[in-house]
Amino acid sequence: MINISPFEATTQYKSIADEIEKNVCAVMASGRYIMGPQVKEFEIQFAQYLNCEQVISCNSGTDALHLALRALKIGAGDEVITTPFTFIATTEAIGIVGATPVFVDVELDSYNIDTQLIESKITERTKAIIPVHLYGRPCNMTAIMEIARKYNLKVIEDCAQATGATWEGKKVGTIGDVGCFSFFPTKNLGCFGDGGAIATSNAEIAARAEYLRRHGGKVKYHHEELGLNSRLDTLQAAVLLVKLPYLDQWNAARKAITDFYLEALSTTTGIVLPQKLHQGNSVWNQFTVRVLGGKRDIIQKSLQAKGIGSMVYYPIPLHLQEVHADLNYVEGSLPVSEQLSHEVLSIPLFPELESSAQQVVVESVKEVMADIYCLQ
Ligand SMILES: *Cc1c(COP(=O)(O)O)cnc(C)c1O
Repeated sequence: MINISPFEATTQYKSIADEIEKNVCAVMASGRYIMGPQVKEFEIQFAQYLNCEQVISCNSGTDALHLALRALKIGAGDEVITTPFTFIATTEAIGIVGATPVFVDVELDSYNIDTQLIESKITERTKAIIPVHLYGRPCNMTAIMEIARKYNLKVIEDCAQATGATWEGKKVGTIGDVGCFSFFPTKNLGCFGDGGAIATSNAEIAARAEYLRRHGGKVKYHHEELGLNSRLDTLQAAVLLVKLPYLDQWNAARKAITDFYLEALSTTTGIVLPQKLHQGNSVWNQFTVRVLGGKRDIIQKSLQAKGIGSMVYYPIPLHLQEVHADLNYVEGSLPVSEQLSHEVLSIPLFPELESSAQQVVVESVKEVMADIYCLQ
């Protein structure tokens, strides 16, 4: 029985188990479980990788967004423009600091925020834009930075799904004021639990985030502001130090798989493949197709029956989530996000996915699509 899951982490672990175990055991033996030297070392190496001044690590990508907003002093009464077609963490962070998310619809072919629609949503309360580089694909950062400069807005890049992606030659997360990263296991650079970081070249933002992540005090037991307990575990830093040097090669492996998918599925009726990017490079956190004709759910079921797992990111756009009912968005208000939430399907993709498995995925997708179109 074939069983190909959308994501699988243990093959990667096995490929570097010796290095990981050596580093993890060293932490355990050292006793320095909180803010051990590996944390700082990882921050330095990740800043070098991104080519920015500073990285401040923290406990998750969600906390990275929270810390970025707090570091920029965004809170009650402020509005933050973002996309409704993302994971809840993006607006959760905005809401938790007391600010209000303002949604701008996405583009059908990039799944990312439609930069043409941003200006009409700017008010005197708007403080920042949070573009999300969804599925590993960079947003149009040129247009976003132009708008931000014109209206004096901050830009916080949600790079949780896009570690290593570039826009016009620059790593995402280093173009806006702050970049927020997640090391959740399914992300391009994943640790063995929760982890996150912010990247910035602004010394004030870095300094504020650095003390906000450890209870809001620059000096131990002196607290100036309400902060968080949001440190990256030393154990996770030790894992990330091993993994970081492999990131580009893993991202290249993801790209090779997607090149195969794009070619092999190019003539399949009823699905729309991810479009090519001209100004940037995707790191393909997901390979997400649009299934047309209202057939997405049945296609997902049929694939499952063949042993092919797939995922729907995301079935409900954020403006229609119960938690955001107070924002008073109605169905139909952000039509492209709503359409995508009914059409998107992410098929198996991770760097270690073998070519025989890729072949099976492609054959299965072709078969289920052909079946659907014969039945009509
Ligand atoms: C995963 C993710 C986050 C949150 O990261 P965690 O580390 O899980 O808290 C934020 N934004 C997006 C777009 C994500 O995919």
